[in-house]
Amino acid sequence: MPDKEGDKPEIDRKARMKIPLEEQKARPSEVRVKDFEPTFIPLTAEEAMRAAERCIHCPDPAPCTLACPGNNDIPAAMWLIEQGDFIGAAEIYRKTSSMPEICGRVCPHEDMCLGSCPRNKRGEPVITGPLEVFVTDYQREHGTVEIPVGPSTGKRVAIVGSGPAGLSCAEQLRQKGHDVTIFEAAPSPGGLLLYGIPNFKLAKEVVFARIGDLEQAGVEFVNLTRIGESKTIDDLFEEGYDAVFVGVGTGIDATMDVAGMDLPGVYQATEFLIRANVDQEHLPEDKDTKPEVGRRLVVVGGGDTASDCLRSALRLGAEEVTCLYRRTEAEMPGGKKDRELAKEEGANFRFLTQPIRFIAGPDGRVSAVECLQCELGEPDDSGRRRPMPIEGSNFTVEADTVILALGYWPDPLIGDTTPDLETHKWGLIVADPETGATSRQGVYAGGDGVTGPATVVTAMVDGRKAAAAIDEYLSKN
Ligand SMILES: Cc1cc2nc3c(=O)[nH]c(=O)nc-3n(C[C@H](O)[C@H](O)[C@H](O)COP(=O)(O)OP(=O)(O)OC[C@H]3O[C@@H](n4cnc5c(N)ncnc54)[C@H](O)[C@@H]3O)c2cc1C
Repeated sequence: MPDKEGDKPEIDRKARMKIPLEEQKARPSEVRVKDFEPTFIPLTAEEAMRAAERCIHCPDPAPCTLACPGNNDIPAAMWLIEQGDFIGAAEIYRKTSSMPEICGRVCPHEDMCLGSCPRNKRGEPVITGPLEVFVTDYQREHGTVEIPVGPSTGKRVAIVGSGPAGLSCAEQLRQKGHDVTIFEAAPSPGGLLLYGIPNFKLAKEVVFARIGDLEQAGVEFVNLTRIGESKTIDDLFEEGYDAVFVGVGTGIDATMDVAGMDLPGVYQATEFLIRANVDQEHLPEDKDTKPEVGRRLVVVGGGDTASDCLRSALRLGAEEVTCLYRRTEAEMPGGKKDRELAKEEGANFRFLTQPIRFIAGPDGRVSAVECLQCELGEPDDSGRRRPMPIEGSNFTVEADTVILALGYWPDPLIGDTTPDLETHKWGLIVADPETGATSRQGVYAGGDGVTGPATVVTAMVDGRKAAAAIDEYLSKN
């Protein structure tokens, strides 16, 4: 029996189509809602091999590979998994991904590899994400995870921001032998992997392990340093860096212009999520306590962040947790899977509801949200039907805590402090989508700070593309 990639026998697709789907099991909702531990139970080796055998090995290029922003060779990994070569499969992912252990957990697979699987026609796709997690965890437990460092080039690259874009750029540049220093504004590296995505979706140990690999490979981390404040990008060049990659994300929470926004008990999503999910040692001093949620908690917004807030609130002990959203469920931007998990855990959803005022109770803390009922009008610029508040339809929803999960804006700091760096009017950095090159020579950018809020995998891919372009630039300069 052939046992390696590229040495596959004739695939009996009909037989494989008969292998039934086994979904990855979640912990029961009433159990998982009591802690912040991972939602899903890891696959066993036998489950992984059975699941991989369901791949029908579509002719090249496979739709799953095309649908993956990193173009992971998923069929090759599936083939090795079904042979039991889990470490070989992990190495397949590592060829094209700088953080497969993280992407396997958090990618919106339904919109990417899993969504493109032809077995979806019967609602039975190959469970690509859990298999990526299984093999990369297996590799860490039973093998070694090492970033191969290239011979030193003597060139120095500064990376601004340590989210997936910055970390992936660093991983690729070290492989080319360049010295890399990452400057990070927060107390610890990781960006939204640490200070955003909740633990029940992505355990922090997984992030720390990958950051540990980078440290091992010689990447230097300088935390608590906001470039644009204590030093600028021009200062970095003066200090002797030969190129700079900017991966600063979109760290400013969107707000709404309504009365009562500054009442105690009204939180921005980011502050709420980091205080709920991050250990004290990684938090700034003014945010290092768990939020007091009270009994009734309201989340305003309809994206993935809203689901993360609902689920975190339930884990902090809130009894009645309700999402208020201006449109209907059909227009919600957040992923269905996270919303279903939130519902299973007890979150309520109130659609066509527009908050217009946060009301203080006798103790001065928020106690209710005044809302208007909405109906749907014509589609707006986003293509979704516009919510139209109905005059006189006012009603209140009681709330001891309100969380605003309304989206994110870029911080204009880097654009404002870097002469000739072109930005869009909203503050996003203008960069070539294939190379990350900006209007400033030697300055590259990628991730959410260029695209606007997107995903871990797209930021990761941007970081890798920019690293390739920086390597080429450094070879000529
Ligand atoms: C609550 C939440 C949940 C999410 N869940 C998912 C999910 O399940 N799956 C998914 O794929 N995506 C998810 N995302 C989106 C994903 O996290 C982002 O798309 C991704 O992290 C963007 O990576 P990045 O490297 O561009 O930026 P970030 O991860 O935002 O990292 C940017 C880093 O730059 C630092 N920084 C900013 N300015 C400066 C400066 N001037 N100097 C130094 N450092 C600076 C910041 O402190 C931060 O550490 C989620 C986002 C949020 C907010």
